[in-house]
Amino acid sequence: MRLLTAILAGLLLSLAASPARADAVQTAFNDAIAAFEQAQPQLGTTRFGVDIAAYRDALTLGQFTSSHWGGNLAVALETGASGSGCARFAAYVPLPPRDGVVPLVVCRQFSEEGTAALRRLTILHEMVHVVAGADECRAMAFAAEVERLATGRFTPVDRYWHSNGCAGSAFSLP
Ligand SMILES: [Zn+2]
Repeated sequence: MRLLTAILAGLLLSLAASPARADAVQTAFNDAIAAFEQAQPQLGTTRFGVDIAAYRDALTLGQFTSSHWGGNLAVALETGASGSGCARFAAYVPLPPRDGVVPLVVCRQFSEEGTAALRRLTILHEMVHVVAGADECRAMAFAAEVERLATGRFTPVDRYWHSNGCAGSAFSLP
């Protein structure tokens, strides 16, 4: 309930500032949820070390029980952000969680740049960090797999894949 209130407050604040911005974040979540739900029957109970039930709950309910972090956690969505992390990322997840809360910071440029498909991919990717930690290769591999299972295609992320040294990781793109 606390989380829902936080999300609603965040969305309402954004809405007051810019309806288009709030819509972009909400649409990205709706698109990510739709893609995940299409992919879920083929994901099993874990994929690339991501607990699928925890991922579903984090994405759709904003709270989850975590075998990775231990205990129950809430996702605190912060929209329209412009803090220091936003200089490098459109969205990011400060880790580790504190006091049972994992912030998902969505920067201002998230809504102002890119495409709906990229925004969907970003939410799918960041939610891996929320439930399974900082590994970039895991997050990219999982998000690409969800895209592929849901749509038959996945966003090419080769440059990012190589710049993070993922070729030598335990993960792979579809
Ligand atoms: Zn990442």
